[in-house]
Amino acid sequence: MEILENYKLGKQSDSWQNGLAKTITFIVTEDCQLRCKYCYIVGKNKFNKMTFDVAQQSIDFIFNNKSTFNDKAVIWDFIGGEPFIEIELINKICDYIKIRMYELNHPWFENYRFSFSTNGILYSDERIQHFIEKNKTHLSIGITLDGTKKKHDLQRVYPNGKGSYDDVVKNIPLWLSQFRDLHTKVTVASEDLPLIYGNYSGSFLRKKCVSQEFLFSS
Ligand code: SF4
Repeated sequence: MEILENYKLGKQSDSWQNGLAKTITFIVTEDCQLRCKYCYIVGKNKFNKMTFDVAQQSIDFIFNNKSTFNDKAVIWDFIGGEPFIEIELINKICDYIKIRMYELNHPWFENYRFSFSTNGILYSDERIQHFIEKNKTHLSIGITLDGTKKKHDLQRVYPNGKGSYDDVVKNIPLWLSQFRDLHTKVTVASEDLPLIYGNYSGSFLRKKCVSQEFLFSS
């Protein structure tokens, strides 16, 4: 396994910390393995997904409008549904972005990152790990863990109602070994309110010094 230093992020430019990066988001799929009770995507399906052609046209538009997209740095952000379900498409899109930035001698070539918010279920999959290895110096990956098993499994469930905590937590050590300055989002719904304190103090991620961002859903 690669040592932690090899994956140190945020080294490309100070502008990441200064918030000067343009964020460009690709919604690559409406599919997901889970049915989190607070999820804003209704009608999940395998059919509504981005094609490479649409992504390519979007990227070309951005590079053809340099006066609009003139920020010092860029975050190419991938969300879903669960974005890693579409890892082959994402890999193709990222390759195209890198090639075009290089061909255009674009300032972003020295100043970009690929960003992901994932449910973490596929994190240790060989295809995901290959992508991480290939792009490791330009990656930001947030795995959503809602805190304790009790809290997480109350909301983040499979279609059959089974909680997903165990399937996510088993991949956390690998994630922790590969990245630093990690963060995760914790969504709190109304029925979770009694669990907030225990969730914060007992969270596996807090014990591993991963910052938790709390979101509240009605
Ligand atoms: S993992 Fe994300 S996309 Fe999937 S159901 Fe949960 S909140 Fe929705």
